[in-house]
Amino acid sequence: MANAAPDPIVGIDLGTTNSLVAVCDAAGPRVLPDAEGHALLPSVVRFLEGAPPVVGREARATAVAHAADTVHSAKRFMGRGFAESAGHAAGLPYRVVEGPRGLAAFDVGGAAVTPQEVAAHVLRALKANAERVLGVSVRRAVVTVPAYFDDAQRQATRDAARLAGLDAVRIVNEPTAAALAYGIGASRARRGTMETIAVYDFGGGTFDVSILQLVPGGPDDGEFFQVLSTAGDTRLGGDDLDEAIIALLVGEVRARFGEALEFPPAARQALRTFAERAKIALSERLDATLEVDLGGGRVHRRTLARAEFESLAAPFVARTVECCRRAMRDAGNPEVDRVVLVGGSTRIPAVREAVRACFGREPYAALDPDQVVALGAAVQASVLSGGRRDLLLVDVVPLSLGIETVGGAVAKLVMRNASIPTRATEMFSTSVDGQVNVSIHVLQGERELAADCRSIARFDLCGIPPMPAGIPQVEVEFLVDENGVLGVTAAERRSGRRASVQVVPTYGLTAEDVDRMEAESFAHAREDMRAHRVIDLCANARLDLHWIADALGRVRAELEAGYVAELDASMARLAGFIEAAGRDLRAVDPDAFHRAKEDLDRLSVRVHEVAIARSLRGVGTGGQGAGSPAVPPAAGDAR
Ligand code: AMP
Repeated sequence: MANAAPDPIVGIDLGTTNSLVAVCDAAGPRVLPDAEGHALLPSVVRFLEGAPPVVGREARATAVAHAADTVHSAKRFMGRGFAESAGHAAGLPYRVVEGPRGLAAFDVGGAAVTPQEVAAHVLRALKANAERVLGVSVRRAVVTVPAYFDDAQRQATRDAARLAGLDAVRIVNEPTAAALAYGIGASRARRGTMETIAVYDFGGGTFDVSILQLVPGGPDDGEFFQVLSTAGDTRLGGDDLDEAIIALLVGEVRARFGEALEFPPAARQALRTFAERAKIALSERLDATLEVDLGGGRVHRRTLARAEFESLAAPFVARTVECCRRAMRDAGNPEVDRVVLVGGSTRIPAVREAVRACFGREPYAALDPDQVVALGAAVQASVLSGGRRDLLLVDVVPLSLGIETVGGAVAKLVMRNASIPTRATEMFSTSVDGQVNVSIHVLQGERELAADCRSIARFDLCGIPPMPAGIPQVEVEFLVDENGVLGVTAAERRSGRRASVQVVPTYGLTAEDVDRMEAESFAHAREDMRAHRVIDLCANARLDLHWIADALGRVRAELEAGYVAELDASMARLAGFIEAAGRDLRAVDPDAFHRAKEDLDRLSVRVHEVAIARSLRGVGTGGQGAGSPAVPPAAGDAR
């Protein structure tokens, strides 16, 4: 990793619920985690009288016990008058009061604290964190705000930064940052194309959608986008989905154990934690278990199916879609070229599906939706400090892209230096009878073995109907779009099962990495080719052995003992090569292995002939067919 610049500009996402800090160097943007490795800093500050304020995780953990003195969601009050904040203040456990100049403030820890001061505590924690990771002092930042923030709210954000000892060199719209994280602005600058981008941001407590358009002209001033329209709902988020699950549970518990049951704050908090956990699990799985233990043996346990959760979530998702339609109308219903997802709630499959249906496009989801705004702020920071030039150009694919095949070899689908956009597909199959899952491991690099390439993504294609090895047809598609974002889709033809993943392959990759990986591939070219040949030989030899053993099992009695002994010995020799390759791939001589395989192929002609003749006579087990099936081009990694 390159050394930090002496006076770096960091990117900060100052969020309603969580905040993050990121930098962008030669390896692209990355979030700077705290000392415990957490990327997200809860935007929560506890003010106890006589004690220094406490920021982040600890403040959030004690929020129930110190509800009146713990400020969260301060961002809702930034630069707002006390009078206009009444709506936001209702239902909050801390007191919102009238501060200086009629602005909103909080009465916490025995004093009035402004939203800027709360934000400054969060920013100070992020600054300290960045300084610890980078080892230099950090004085400048690009800070993001919602696109709908007015001048007063933007100024309040600048003031918060100044209080924290940071110069907010630019205030950037959150949706703009999200688009920049995907390189959207930069790629247009190179190609001079017009693009319209929809940014769909569904977080914990708020929903926003923005329609952006690339500003004509060069990117030198750093202003890539114009906001055509925004729409949203400041009271709509993942929290509502948690509440819907809680309401379902509370209703059931009351029906079972008594209508009068009360849930004190601590119990509600516990319910909220369970509900959120179940919701998050349902983004990955098809069901989750919910349990409420009231004590005294009164336990309510139930399974929540994804479909049931989706119907609970449907009215909320529909409200976000309604906002999208409004924003599109306000923008004059332009053709949308890209859709970018932001916010933790966009991990919910039904949400992605609704976004896809609404905009008629597959949304960008390669980057962590919690980090994408901070990453984009860091890209903007890098543009401002002139550092973005160091980033890899993504006009071409800098390193080949492929997948791991059985035995640890690499099947390359997109070759190095292919110009983008580019698309490639290849057919794969299974390597084990009855295999129902195929694990797709996406790799980047020039070497022949998976272990020597850079792993960039993994995903599973599940639910393939059980079939003999080599029969399922798994089409793998690689699509690298104009922004260098890679989408990999695997689809099994017969069953129609599909799975996909998106990545930004250039992130974390420096120009030096590319040079090094290229040099290594030259240095190891000969031994890599040998190893790859051995892997392919193993896959083919295994299939040969499988089919020969099968035929031999059926017709052994019809063959002369001498021939059978010779065949057994030849099979054992080939199996020996496979075993040796399992111990050390590079120790096996591929030429000798190849000769052994050819010897067996020649020798086995007779056993196959006898087996075919027998099945033609209608004798024997029938149905299974004799002879080798079409060997798949390469077999998918078995699991
Ligand atoms: P944000 O405000 O962007 O940090 O988003 C936080 C919201 O995203 C919370 O409501 C989380 O419960 C929700 N969230 C985070 N991860 C997931 C997930 N995998 N599936 C569903 N919701 C999630």
